[in-house]
Amino acid sequence: MVRAENVHKRFGRTEVLRGVDLAVRPGEVMCVIGPSGSGKSTFLRCVNHLEKIDGGRLWVNGRLVGYRERGGRLYELREKDVARQRREIGMVFQRFNLFPHMTALQNVMEAPVQVKGRGRAEAREQARALLERVGLGDKTGSYPAQLSGGQQQRVAIARALAMEPALMLFDEPTSALDPELVGDVLEVMKRLALDGMTMIVVTHEMGFAREVGDSLVFMDDGAVVEEGNPREVLANPSHPRTQDFLSRVL
Ligand code: ATP
Ligand code: MG
Repeated sequence: MVRAENVHKRFGRTEVLRGVDLAVRPGEVMCVIGPSGSGKSTFLRCVNHLEKIDGGRLWVNGRLVGYRERGGRLYELREKDVARQRREIGMVFQRFNLFPHMTALQNVMEAPVQVKGRGRAEAREQARALLERVGLGDKTGSYPAQLSGGQQQRVAIARALAMEPALMLFDEPTSALDPELVGDVLEVMKRLALDGMTMIVVTHEMGFAREVGDSLVFMDDGAVVEEGNPREVLANPSHPRTQDFLSRVL
């Protein structure tokens, strides 16, 4: 579903990704941990083509992200084709970025109607079902300001799912939340994983990684330092830098 081969990304002179190799199979959940500035968010943004990579290859759903390959050469995709690729990918950030002037239901309906050209009645039914699925069936008419952070984040997840993505990217979805609100959001993500969604989750929630993750990646300094079964990596990190990181966060 996702394959990264020797992915490089620079901002000016700073090399932020220095050859990332990763693979996520359909239905798998990959959790990504690592110190601040190690390139986790940048990598997710590359997968979504919000950032352009400077070297290597990145595939989502069997297609090169942002490029077409012909005769061994890469040609940039047109904006329209990039947008189409991006629609297959749902992204949930630390900050929920809901439209403040729209209800939960309107937030979830917006993209299917505007981007996919879906009829309003159908989009409304789908949005209701999605809000039900994230445990907010009784909040469809609430505005973001009337919802807790955890509820807003669950609306954000429903909104991403409304585009029927093949892949979901989560960038520290619970780290802006009060501790007592984290559980509900993780529970929604766990059910999504059990339903077979392919997910890459940048998180500090080691319990979630252990329980839900099929693999755990430790990134440091723009590269994958260690990858493996989450239980094994957490219990028995093999690289000194992983050991050092885990000893500080666990
Ligand atoms: P955190 O855990 O704090 O979220 P991260 O692992 O997600 O960190 P990134 O946000 O990917 O790290 O940043 C990696 C490096 O790239 C950092 O040194 C950051 O300052 C730099 N960086 C990220 N985005 C940009 C940008 N748009 N322009 C310049 N430098 C950037
Ligand atoms: Mg980040």
